[in-house]
Amino acid sequence: MTQAASITVARGDGIGPEIMDATLRVLDAAGAKLDVEEVKIGKAVYESGVTSGIGPEVWDSLRRTGCFLKAPITTPQGGGYKSLNVTTRKTLGLFANVRPCASYAPFVRSKHPGMDLVIVRENEEDTYAGIEHQQTDEVAQCLKLITRPGCERIVRYAFDYAVANGRRKVTCMTKDNIMKITDGMFRRVFEEIAGEYPQIETDHLIIDIGTARMADSPEMFDVVVTPNLYGDILSDVAAQVAGSVGLAPSSNIGKSCSMFEAIHGSAPDIAGQNKANPSGLLLAGVMMLRHLGQGEVAATVHNAWLTAVEEGVRTGDMRPEHDSAGSPPLGTDAFTDAVIARLGKTPNRLPTVEATGTAAITIPELKQHTPVTKALVGVDVFLHWDREGRSPDALAKHLNVAAQAADVGLSLTMISNRGVKVWPEGLPETFCTDHWRCRFKAASDSAASPEGVIRLLQSIHNAGLSFIKTEHLYTFDGKPAYALGQGE
Ligand code: NAD
Repeated sequence: MTQAASITVARGDGIGPEIMDATLRVLDAAGAKLDVEEVKIGKAVYESGVTSGIGPEVWDSLRRTGCFLKAPITTPQGGGYKSLNVTTRKTLGLFANVRPCASYAPFVRSKHPGMDLVIVRENEEDTYAGIEHQQTDEVAQCLKLITRPGCERIVRYAFDYAVANGRRKVTCMTKDNIMKITDGMFRRVFEEIAGEYPQIETDHLIIDIGTARMADSPEMFDVVVTPNLYGDILSDVAAQVAGSVGLAPSSNIGKSCSMFEAIHGSAPDIAGQNKANPSGLLLAGVMMLRHLGQGEVAATVHNAWLTAVEEGVRTGDMRPEHDSAGSPPLGTDAFTDAVIARLGKTPNRLPTVEATGTAAITIPELKQHTPVTKALVGVDVFLHWDREGRSPDALAKHLNVAAQAADVGLSLTMISNRGVKVWPEGLPETFCTDHWRCRFKAASDSAASPEGVIRLLQSIHNAGLSFIKTEHLYTFDGKPAYALGQGE
């Protein structure tokens, strides 16, 4: 007999309590074995002075259960409140955001009747590390961090998810034609790991055309894996074109804890009116049951819900294909009763869900990599400079004098502005801001040293130039590991 799984449940704000009651009622009636620990998060906790909206007792519960079924919460207006979702994801290392997007046409209106895909979005890295700086009067930057372990973990999860859920194909989307080092790493890892799953078809699309195709022909996709920012945008496009934002669930998966929720918010406009559609949270509950190894119950609930939908059972937000079709909308309670009444049935027209994915996907320990030989071959010095009509030739003269004075074997080879080479031989048309990347290289590989870089910086400072940051230029196993300037 299946042992009861401990889960942490938060009823949230707005419609949260109503849809959580509905969800737990269906899961219970279907025979889910759950041992529920209830916690409070959200509006009341924020307003009690906890800026994260989540108190220490919640972390204790999550550490105990490792599983969080969460209703939406209301973020109070005004500054000073941190996003509870971002805090939870980062604190618990929930590295994978999994969002299935399916259409239920003709029972729920959709422009793409054949759509049935899953976005697997990396959830912790990329520009979401939140490392931002304003560096000059005119220029601010956000650091995009992509790690090899992060890529390996998310890509492997996408393939394991495809296998566990009977999916055929995994598509990777990046912008590696532009970001050859960061997105290039994501794509390379994808191609390496794809080799371990010969039964799964794979392809890669550049994110811009990939997003366009997602909006136009989502039926061509099955599982899509992508870095954080692209995944954020892509998963909203996918949910929107499915025509079912109110029906879409999501999971956030980590090694020791996972969180399951609907993608919609707390809908304060209809709270307490018995109008809310519980389907997003209920389908998140289905994902949770599968994750907990209760795949049979998950399939029973999902099939009962599909049967109800194709029999015209709906809440007010689920518009059928033709306004004249379907039954009148039901309230939350009656909708929930209708799903419960269909437990044990399977749909006739919508595809029946099989009890696949009955065990949680094992997340392997990260592999130790053999260290590579790293050599320092130069440095990019970033300057805040706004003199002499912003003339690159004038700046180069100052820098050449500074490099000669430092006498450490590092010479100026290139100046770029917003990534475009402006010296030597820049074009007068290039707009220059007050933020300059000045590239110094050693005459031969590995001739540069940290001490040399420090002396060069001192000399640049002595020349009255304001350096704002440096990026070292390395080779890894002899191969340059830095981008060339555009036009270099
Ligand atoms: P929302 O998703 O709550 O509502 C948008 C519209 O969709 C509203 O008209 C609402 O009535 C309707 N709607 C949403 N869910 C529905 C459901 N289950 N059944 C029927 N209709 C539904 O988005 P919003 O209005 O932008 O945000 C409201 C609050 O929710 C805000 O405080 C926001 O910060 C919060 N929020 C929380 C989460 C979360 O906890 N995961 C996610 C998004 C927004």
